Parts: sequence; structure tokens; C-alpha cells
Amino acid sequence: MATNADDRVEIARTEEGGRKGGGYAVQIVEGEETGGGFKLNLEALKQVLLHPDVVNRPVVIVSVAGAFRKGKSFLLDFMLRYLQHSDESEWLSNKEESLVGFSWKSGSRPDTNGILMWSEPFVRTIPHTGEEIALLLMDTQGAFDTRSTVKQNATIFALSTMLSSIQIYNLMSQIQENDLQHLQLFTEYARLASDYLSEKPFQSLMFLVRDWYHLGDNKYGDSGGGEYLQSVLEVHYGQQEELSVTRKHIYFCFDDIRCYLMPHPGMKVAVGGKEFSGQLKHIDEDFVDHLKQLMPTILDPVNLVVKKISGNVITGKKLVHYVESYVKIFQAGELPEPKSMLEATAEANHLAAKDDSLDSYKRTMDEICGPTTPFLNPDELAVSHSQAKEDSLNVFKLIKKMGGNIMSEKYELLLDEEIEKLFLDYSKTNDNKNIFMAARTPAVLTTIVVI
Ligand code: GDP
Ligand code: MG
Repeated sequence: MATNADDRVEIARTEEGGRKGGGYAVQIVEGEETGGGFKLNLEALKQVLLHPDVVNRPVVIVSVAGAFRKGKSFLLDFMLRYLQHSDESEWLSNKEESLVGFSWKSGSRPDTNGILMWSEPFVRTIPHTGEEIALLLMDTQGAFDTRSTVKQNATIFALSTMLSSIQIYNLMSQIQENDLQHLQLFTEYARLASDYLSEKPFQSLMFLVRDWYHLGDNKYGDSGGGEYLQSVLEVHYGQQEELSVTRKHIYFCFDDIRCYLMPHPGMKVAVGGKEFSGQLKHIDEDFVDHLKQLMPTILDPVNLVVKKISGNVITGKKLVHYVESYVKIFQAGELPEPKSMLEATAEANHLAAKDDSLDSYKRTMDEICGPTTPFLNPDELAVSHSQAKEDSLNVFKLIKKMGGNIMSEKYELLLDEEIEKLFLDYSKTNDNKNIFMAARTPAVLTTIVVI
């Protein structure tokens, strides 16, 4: 049952239909609309982490992070429903119940970047240790769309990675190079702020791919996800250095990396509409089946990962101190600008693309007028050069690069200039072959005359 008060969706305390508990979403961190800064709401954070069930217990923080309107809150509300039912067979039995908790509808208010936590914890016992822990849910969102929000996003995502023990990176349809680069950026930022240089700084990472449709390649679920992830994160010989650096960094940062491929939930969910409030009767069966599999994969006590920092178990109380000190570091301005890190990545991307394209030009020209080939008519050489140049520029255009059009134009110009310079060298070498021929003829003649 949901009540709307000041835009806050609250689940009234209930014992109905096997569902126990209540609560509401609390805004912990909020991105400022202008200037790219952010605000920590310390009181709200304390309200959650100093809750009597949390304060002295080890915490497990499950975070779902990613861009807007990709079904994060929708999924978190299923997590809530799963956690608020003690009987696993019952939690998806009510087909009419509206989906409530973190607000998941695309409302009229613009979305803000930030971190939300669910106000009520879930106390669970870890089977193999007998330890009682407090499980908390966290919703993190941002948009890497404008340059001014890069710093804000990097900070917010970094904080959510530092706070959570299980980070779920929610992506639509597939894992793209950009997604990996963003992950690299914000884990690098988190690592800089946390100073954990020697060991794996973070714990569990799950790539959650929504609306998976390449079923011919990989099946839905955990094992299909594992195979897909392996193909995406593979580091192999001959790979562009940029790509392997990103992958090695991600492997370095997390203890455990998994991937789950979710089916499309059906048009009612995707399109939304007024009468749709998340009832199971409107959601595709495949999706519901995978909710049943996914939830215990993340939330069953056997699979919970207790939050540790530098090997030490963290309680709610301790985590407040960590967050306070992290925020101070982010706000002190001592860290390098993440924008410049992003730009450095983009520059490196373009540089590699330019070099590859130049190599393609060189390969073609070497075949036509390299050191071992005979003299070529300069007009023919010019035609070959134009063709090889056009091919090389096309290679450059086809390589996927970060950084946008302005950066691409700059590097395309550079490529053009370097090709023209090379062409001058090729022409000179070609002319020399001709001069050599010309010079050798009289030399031979002279020799004959002398004899
Ligand atoms: P968030 O901004 O990432 O938290 O996204 P929301 O949870 O608010 O969902 C945004 C919209 O996506 C809603 O209209 C949902 O009905 C819809 N949605 C939820 N899950 C999925 C999904 O797995 N696939 C698709 N295509 N849409 C979804
Ligand atoms: Mg949301």
C-alpha cells in the first residue's frame, strides 16, 4: 500500500498477504543542479545507518547504479518485496499488487542525480558464520550526458561503490565500451579517494543487463551472463591497449564480478501508461521467472557479502565515519578532475585510432611504393595515395571512440596532415629511385669507356 506525501512513496507498515515491514526512500546524496557539485545529507545517512538494527551490526549494502529510466527502481522494488516476505514461495503470488517502494515511474519532476537508501533495514543471519547482519538497499542514478555533470556523476557513483558491498551495474540491452569506461572512471575516482592501493578495493560487482535479446549468443540468467561477460571483459594478445587497460582495471578493482541477463518485461512495462502500476499480471512470464531466480542469487543469506574496508568488517556506525571522511576528500579539491581523466581516456582513444588508421595507409603505400618496389610514375603514385588516404580516413571514422565530434575532427585533421607528410616521403623515395636509375646509367657507361 502506498501513500504519497511530499513526493515520498511510503510503504505503510503491514502484515498483509505475508508481507511484513514498511519504510520509505531517503535521499542520502543529491547532485546540485548547477555547478556539478553534490550535497551529502548527513542526517538522512545517520537516520539509516544508526538505526538500532544497523548501528552495531555488520552491514550488507546492495546498490543498484546506472543511468536514468533503465528500470533500476522497478527492480529494487521487487527486491523490497522479496525481502519483506518470509516465505519465498509467496512473494510473487499476488498478481494484482501494485509495485511500491523506490519511486519508479517516469514522473513529471525532472530526475536528479543522487543516492537513495531504503529507511528500513533487513536483519539476516549468515548461515556459515551465524553472524547477524543488517541488509540495506541503495538506489543510485546519474546521467553521463553533459560535461558539467561528469565530476558530479563520478563522485556519486564513486561514493555508491565505496558504500556498497554488492554493486549492481544496471545496463540496457548490452555492455558497451562506454559503460566499461564509465565504470573505470568512477572506480578509479573511488580508489583515489579511498587510498586502498594494495588490495582489491571493492567487493562484488554484478552487471545486470536488461532487455537482453541476443539469445542466439547467450541464454538469459547467470550462466549466459557469465559467458557473455567473459567475451566482453576478455583481455587478449593484440587487443588495443586502451581496451585491455580498462578491462584489467575493472578486474583489479573487484573481488568478484558477475553478470545476469534479464529478459524484456513486456510492452506494458516498457511503455508504462496510467493504468499500469507494476502488477505482475501485466509482466511477461519470462521476466517474472527470472525475478524468481535473480533475487536469491543476490539476496539469499548464503550469497550476501558483508561490507569490508581494508579487510575489516564494517558496522553501520563505522560506515558513517567512512562516508564523512570520503566526502571531505571529494570536497577538498585534492583529487584530480575526473573530467581530465575522462578526457585523457578520450585522447588516448583517438590517438590509438589515428595510429591504427595511419598504419593502414602505410601498409597500402609500402606495397605500392615501399623500399623494395620499383620506381612508379608520379601520377600513378598520386592516385594510389588518394585512394589509400581515403581508406585510412574511413578506418578512422569506423573505429568507436570516446570524446565526441570535436575531438574526432581534431584527430582526423592530424591524421590528414600526417598522411600528407608521409606522402612527401614516399614521393621523395620514389623520385630517388628514378634519379638513381638515371645516375647509374652514365656511371655504367663510364665504366665501359674506361675498360
Ligand atoms: P530508473 O530511472 O532506472 O530507476 O527506472 P525506473 O525503475 O523508474 O523505470 C523506468 C521505466 O522503465 C518505467 O516506466 C518502467 O515501467 C520501465 N521498466 C522497468 N523495468 C524495465 C525493463 O527491464 N525493461 C524495460 N524496457 N523497461 C523497464
Ligand atoms: Mg529510479
